[in-house]
Amino acid sequence: MKSLSLKSPVLEIVERDFHGLFSGELGLSSIKGGQSAADAALAALDVTGYAHSRSEVLPKSRRGASVLSPYIRHNLLTLSQVYRAVKTAPYKDREKFQDELYWQEYARHLYARIGTRLFENLRFDANATSQGDGWNRDMLCVDEVVAELENDGWLVNQTRMWLASHWTVRNDVGWLHGQERMYQALLDGSRAANLLGWQWTVGAGTGKPYGFARWQVEKRAPGLCSQCPLSQACPIQEFPEEVSLNRLDVDSLLERDPDPENTSGPRLAVKNDSPKFVLLTIDSMGDDDSALKANPDLPAVFVFNEDALQKLQLSSRRIGFYLETLKDLSERRELQIYLGDPYQFVRDNPVAVTFAPVPSFKKFYGLAEIHPYPWLQQPHSGSVKSFSAWRKSTR
Ligand SMILES: Cc1cc2nc3c(=O)[nH]c(=O)nc-3n(C[C@H](O)[C@H](O)[C@H](O)COP(=O)(O)OP(=O)(O)OC[C@H]3O[C@@H](n4cnc5c(N)ncnc54)[C@H](O)[C@@H]3O)c2cc1C
Repeated sequence: MKSLSLKSPVLEIVERDFHGLFSGELGLSSIKGGQSAADAALAALDVTGYAHSRSEVLPKSRRGASVLSPYIRHNLLTLSQVYRAVKTAPYKDREKFQDELYWQEYARHLYARIGTRLFENLRFDANATSQGDGWNRDMLCVDEVVAELENDGWLVNQTRMWLASHWTVRNDVGWLHGQERMYQALLDGSRAANLLGWQWTVGAGTGKPYGFARWQVEKRAPGLCSQCPLSQACPIQEFPEEVSLNRLDVDSLLERDPDPENTSGPRLAVKNDSPKFVLLTIDSMGDDDSALKANPDLPAVFVFNEDALQKLQLSSRRIGFYLETLKDLSERRELQIYLGDPYQFVRDNPVAVTFAPVPSFKKFYGLAEIHPYPWLQQPHSGSVKSFSAWRKSTR
């Protein structure tokens, strides 16, 4: 277990301590990590016009998306907090925005329930595994969007759909590889929302693949096609041919959860021992983390999982976002940072931690305290087959 110091600038720390553990060129996103940055973004949130402009791509000034996702993903902002923040927004915009927050919650419930099964086609047989690179960078629309993904680690929902569709629906490359590439780069990359986004775009969730064609580019990024070297020979001039995907047998776990308490984690803190540390995980890095709040006098600890980083090869932007977040927290709280094995840390030390609804949480043994996860809605035992079926049971 190597102890890391936060004294140097973030990029220097990435270069010095994360050598071989990140992919792509060294750099930081324009979206800053940290509770202070998250609070400022929430204070500036104004969703007026959101319903109309959430899907706009270019110019950037037309975009209506909130860019809160990196903070929401790591619970620097909880979904409940963001949900409440728009309560006085115009009706149409508020409804649309809150509906999207529910999509995020749906992704979390689905992943909490079915775990790594979300890496397989859920309901329809889409191409998940063929090797290749599904993004032709000679097309300006694809090139611009991939460049934004790589340079800034963030995309609007619309262009995530373009990329996912282009990769699998048009170019017939397995969606698992595309989602991995996006996951490496996205500051908000979560298995829950990324796998859901890919499954739904390529048709594995609904049977209806989303078709990406020049039409969307002209509508959402007017003027881009006229600058494209392939403008007169556009490979996506027409929509891709409609295909019908074979329906798969429904997994009974999608219909019903036999153990919703296990899926949701504890509703009240579970206390097994006296903790000496509060362990933060990437699913909960905010000042309002329930384990942190319950133990105001204990030092906080964050362990970068070296083996996982070695395999995942996340971008330096993602690692930089975590370091910025930790630096910000260290101004208010005693904090120790390590590169090593978080599961070993928990075996060796009594820690308090906030439950995370992800399969890897089960690898923690002997936790001193487990604190509740900040759900927007408590998970239910009904269907999670589709967003609408899931929503029906949440009401
Ligand atoms: C292929 C694909 C991959 C995706 N991967 C991720 C991912 O790894 N992490 C991630 O958080 N989201 C992912 N999304 C969902 C969505 O694109 C992003 O949450 C959204 O673009 C983030 O930008 P924003 O904060 O400005 O969103 P806004 O439009 O301002 O929405 C506010 C919040 O609502 C939630 N939200 C909005 N749209 C969706 C959606 N379609 N599904 C789930 N939640 C939504 C997010 O938490 C978002 O921050 C993916 C979508 C697709 C199609």
